[in-house]
Amino acid sequence: MLADNDRIFTNLYGFHDASLQGARARGAWDNTKSFIDKGHDWLINEVKASGLRGRGGAGFPTGLKWSFMPKADARPSYLVINADESEPGSCKDREIMRNDPHLLIEGALLASFAMRAHTSYCYLRGEYIRERERLQAAIDEAYANKLIGKNNIHGWDFDLYLHHGAGAYICGEETAMLESLEGKKGQPRLKPPFPANVGLWGAPTTVNNVESIAVVGTILRRGGAWFAGLGKPNNTGTKLFQISGHVNEPCVVEEEMGVSFRELVEKHCGGIRGGWDNLLAIIPGGSSMPLLPAHECQDLTLDFDTLSKLKSGMGTAAIIVMDKSTDIIKAFARIAYFYKHESCGQCTPCREGTGWMWRVLERMAKGEAEKREIDLLFDVTKQIEGHTICALGEAAAWPVQGLIRNFRPVIEARIDEYHAKQKVAAE
Ligand code: SF4
Repeated sequence: MLADNDRIFTNLYGFHDASLQGARARGAWDNTKSFIDKGHDWLINEVKASGLRGRGGAGFPTGLKWSFMPKADARPSYLVINADESEPGSCKDREIMRNDPHLLIEGALLASFAMRAHTSYCYLRGEYIRERERLQAAIDEAYANKLIGKNNIHGWDFDLYLHHGAGAYICGEETAMLESLEGKKGQPRLKPPFPANVGLWGAPTTVNNVESIAVVGTILRRGGAWFAGLGKPNNTGTKLFQISGHVNEPCVVEEEMGVSFRELVEKHCGGIRGGWDNLLAIIPGGSSMPLLPAHECQDLTLDFDTLSKLKSGMGTAAIIVMDKSTDIIKAFARIAYFYKHESCGQCTPCREGTGWMWRVLERMAKGEAEKREIDLLFDVTKQIEGHTICALGEAAAWPVQGLIRNFRPVIEARIDEYHAKQKVAAE
């Protein structure tokens, strides 16, 4: 359980002053120049030592990702901050931008310095109007106080621009984000080449999540070893968890990686609605992750490795709790509709498969299906998974796989019930 003095986001709920003065009082922008004076490699090594893994969903080691950027290249380097936060269930980055924006700006400067970038773009989700206003106000303060900009007090010229998306989920995929930033239609690029070699405007680029960047200043202030000492091996540090759905008090909260699901829900969310016996399932990492049935949640710990062993994933740590009042088939039909709606349409398996899965699930939710279609549906998910340009294919396929793996009897019972009613009506 995370001690209060180990919290990074001390204004997560906006109870205190989010301006530069308030942020400074909480420790932001403290000693920033001394970290820059230690050099690019020191900074990358410290982040590597912290064990920080990307907080946007994939969990790739952040320091390692930064080390892929070229050390000497005639082209400019860029940091792109992914603030598109569109995964259903995810709502943590908005709290950082609204209430602790200076941690993000300081982190952007430090990360850009580590990667020899003088320019960073923060790509915000289209609906995040207030977040953009707060963040822009904080950026203006940082410029006015010469914390960033040309000839700033830190000795590393740095510009940070906000770019507002137009509401497409797919622009959260890093290469679609780059296309969108370049003013084109937000469609993912084929990889390789990877953005570290050919990114924004053909130049070396790293795309990082808001939370991954916002924790950097505190990690450097307290030391990589401090962050590495929290959580579990290979799953270190603190994490913003977002718990929504059928808990008594849904919330966003910073906790240690590897916290137990039970502890998280009991301590911060007032328990499961109707008690633990009323729990049906959870989606642990945003709607693209396979669900976990209640019996797997009793002693569950929330970290990358544990969840992937259970054939699910940590994702953004957006935990959607479903109690027994949930029509689980209908819920996953709705999720399938989301991915159908957000497919960019470039790849046939995704464009056609997402719509196909949605239509079959809608029928299954009513029982209007044949049992053999359950295997057929599973087979289609396997034909989408791994056969598309970007991970939206998996994001659409995995939830359906999780549903079939864990709730096949429920689907079968629904089909039986429907056919029994049809038979009675016919007779
Ligand atoms: Fe577009 Fe889907 Fe292909 Fe991704 S997987 S590129 S969203 S069609």
